[in-house]
Amino acid sequence: MAKATAGPEIERLIQLLARLPGLGPRSARRAALHLIKKRDQLMTPLAGALQIATEKVVVCRNCGNIDTMNPCAVCSDPKRDPSVIVVVGDVADLWALERASVLNARYHVLGGTLSPLDGVGPQDLAIDTLVARAQEPEVKEIVLALNATVDGQTTAHYITDLLHDANVSVTRLAHGVPVGGELDYLDEGTLSQALRSRTPM
Ligand code: ZN
Repeated sequence: MAKATAGPEIERLIQLLARLPGLGPRSARRAALHLIKKRDQLMTPLAGALQIATEKVVVCRNCGNIDTMNPCAVCSDPKRDPSVIVVVGDVADLWALERASVLNARYHVLGGTLSPLDGVGPQDLAIDTLVARAQEPEVKEIVLALNATVDGQTTAHYITDLLHDANVSVTRLAHGVPVGGELDYLDEGTLSQALRSRTPM
């Protein structure tokens, strides 16, 4: 067993930090030391923010986003276009699309994508509630913003079939050349999708 270099409280802090995505044991140790050194400027406010988040963060009953209000700030915003719902797999995808700030739409978080290999079926995702929202009279378009993976695209096709009788147009994100991408470095799958999805200049 490795020798402990600090008391149990500090070791526990390091172990907890090491569970965060992107942090291994070594960077967790560095982060813990940084927090301890910056106790007043960083550790105390962080502990307070974590405490408040623990008490207040909830899942939006409408769209599945996480926020401290329910319905969430996006669903409650009267300036959002109620005719468009962007479907994402995870809250991280919602946040990524919001950073792009192209659409002023509302969202629907599925909570994952269909994955027969991992035993994730339609009943494990928020698909029923999406179909119900698609029936609302103000909704005109469902944008499937799902990962360009086999599971993401399987989910997109499944949802498209389910929405066949709803009075909405179902669209998906374009697949193709990334911004700043050089053709020579792209894989064949991306290139063939880009050719098939070509648009007029
Ligand atoms: Zn919401």
